[in-house]
Amino acid sequence: MANDGLVRHVERWADRGAALLSHSRELLAQIKACNALYKVHFPVRLADGSLRVFEGYRAQHSQHRIPTKGGVRFSPSVDQAEIAGLAALMTYKCALMDLPFAGAKGGVRFDPRQATPELRERVTRRYVVELDKRGFIGPGLDVLAPDMGTGPQEMAWIADTYMALHPGNLEVFGCVTGKPIGLHGLPGRLEATGRGVWVGLEEALAFEEDVAPLGLEPGLRGKSIAVQGFGNVGFHAARFLAEAGARVVAASDSGGAVHNPDGLDVVALRAHKRDHGSVAGFPGSTTLPCRDAVLEVDCDVLVPCAAEGAISEENAGRVRAKVVAEGANGPLTPKGEEILLERGLFIIPGVFLNAGGVTVSYFEWLKNIHHVSFERLTKRREAMSKRLLVEAIEDLAQKTFASELREHLLRGPEEIDFVNEALAQTMSTAYLEIRDAWKRYGCRDLRTAAYALALDKVAENYLTMGIFP
Ligand code: NAD
Repeated sequence: MANDGLVRHVERWADRGAALLSHSRELLAQIKACNALYKVHFPVRLADGSLRVFEGYRAQHSQHRIPTKGGVRFSPSVDQAEIAGLAALMTYKCALMDLPFAGAKGGVRFDPRQATPELRERVTRRYVVELDKRGFIGPGLDVLAPDMGTGPQEMAWIADTYMALHPGNLEVFGCVTGKPIGLHGLPGRLEATGRGVWVGLEEALAFEEDVAPLGLEPGLRGKSIAVQGFGNVGFHAARFLAEAGARVVAASDSGGAVHNPDGLDVVALRAHKRDHGSVAGFPGSTTLPCRDAVLEVDCDVLVPCAAEGAISEENAGRVRAKVVAEGANGPLTPKGEEILLERGLFIIPGVFLNAGGVTVSYFEWLKNIHHVSFERLTKRREAMSKRLLVEAIEDLAQKTFASELREHLLRGPEEIDFVNEALAQTMSTAYLEIRDAWKRYGCRDLRTAAYALALDKVAENYLTMGIFP
């Protein structure tokens, strides 16, 4: 897909949502426009002593709330349109999740897999310096996070560079989320997007009246799942879905695709990918003729977790799933989506479904600016209350709980418990709101409802500022 596709697609989806609202055209135009876009070239010295000039971007789509928030992508596909489209998606995503952020996105155009760790570090640090010169990074300005091609290590370099540029600033660690735990990161952040995909899908499949027309029973148990893109989002989504009783029958990555109608052992598949560089050739599975064949596997739910534009008018007619659950950003083109909707598929849009990462990033940012972990003030107090209750019950019943259960009941909450429960709560509330809007607006699909709801929430912010009539 040409990169300007995504930005146009997001605009088109926003237009569809906007058509359901009665806000002024000027207000909607303000919301849709990308407010600030920074393109920068910077030189980095390579190991052989030569210089290479890198092209970087940061887009702040909206400033109706500050800071802005969004990931950083290292990929050869990075360009202005891709980054602007992804930044717009972040605005709508944050609004749907009721997070106090507006959307942003950034990236550097290069392939990190072809780069040494030293080069990745130099590119990351220099990118931060360039962003800092123009106010495109900061705990109260613009908060970075991982995306394709970046992870906790890059986030650590970002935090360290920002800290060096801002000595004495107490909130420096709030300039980036997705950091390693030892560097004020948050347990649960790495797997948060995949966990959110699981929770969101569970919510969406819970309503009999929504799934019965697809010939499905409510719930995840026994559902067959195909996952495109077995990376961070894809692997964790597959793992949580399998733990919830679904059967992961196919998975792919850039090196190939594998299939087993009886179900794949997701954790063993991950180990195989780590050892061999790809899921292809996983013992006990059939390696499909090409990686895109995973999109056409017979299954209940297809979960695309790779790149943009995976399902277009070219292959949408061959998708055999009944539900498409978008783990990736923009995996369907509008034309591909149109074909799926006409064929009666149920589509759970990524603007909602993959928002688990930014939601937990919000918790990490909160922890960083408050300088306290979530369990620190309450853990002992909660454990004490539980002990009183357990002992009172045992007193009344004149017997004690089995020791394992007793230990479980008495345990105070860990930080990860707060994170996971708050994430589940946020995903679940957002889904119910989107579904409610879907019914209220009487629109055909969940995505249109989600965009209408997100636009309405952002509009509400602008209206309270008193700028627009
Ligand atoms: P990742 O780099 O960890 O994983 C991507 C995986 O997709 C890799 O295994 C890669 O081999 C595979 N892949 C790439 N092209 C493919 C193709 N054509 N067919 C099959 N597999 C292919 O990236 P990620 O962080 O998991 O992100 C995946 C998607 O989810 C992106 O669209 C990203 O923007 C989106 N997303 C990620 C997060 C997050 O927290 N990581 C949050 C929200 C959205």
